[in-house]
Amino acid sequence: MYFPLRRNISSIIVNKPPFKLLNTTFKPFFEIYFGNSNILSYTNKSGFFDQTKIFANEADRICITDSDFNLPICGDLTIKLYNNKLMSTKKIGRIAFNTAFINEESNILIFKVREIDPDVLQITPGIPKEFEFIIKFTKDCECSNKFYDFNLCEKCAKFLDKEVIDWKEINKTIEVFLFLFNYFNRSFLMKKNIFMKM
Ligand SMILES: [Zn+2]
Repeated sequence: MYFPLRRNISSIIVNKPPFKLLNTTFKPFFEIYFGNSNILSYTNKSGFFDQTKIFANEADRICITDSDFNLPICGDLTIKLYNNKLMSTKKIGRIAFNTAFINEESNILIFKVREIDPDVLQITPGIPKEFEFIIKFTKDCECSNKFYDFNLCEKCAKFLDKEVIDWKEINKTIEVFLFLFNYFNRSFLMKKNIFMKM
């Protein structure tokens, strides 16, 4: 079991975007949803004319976030990517993950075609095999996501307040259970001893 890590998203990258998106003007933007909610927490969507244009010759690997992007996150997260069009928006893909699964050393998560919604992407012609979303993270402490290594810094403890309380509750319940178990076990043995002596 792993703990959700407190991290900052530093970049959202699309590797090998489908050519059909690039035929027209490509103006990608992202939406981020925290927890399991449908309430939009963060987006870089702007008006069609203000949205940054990506040219086809840059299309190998596209970074959708600004160079100074640094969004604090923790726990469950959904990221949706779209192409901003003049009259509408076109979905590029959607990914969902928990920060507990971020590799602590590399601080990167890579989502292959089969891990990106909608599933129809896998069989859609013109979707390159190398099409993937790459999310990069930064950290400002050395806390671990392994719960047995339970020694959180002040910032993480605050962010993880609920999880920490839940974890302590579980621990307390186990302690009470062990205490009662030992107590009854001992008194049972004592009675048994008395009975045998009689
Ligand atoms: Zn920490």
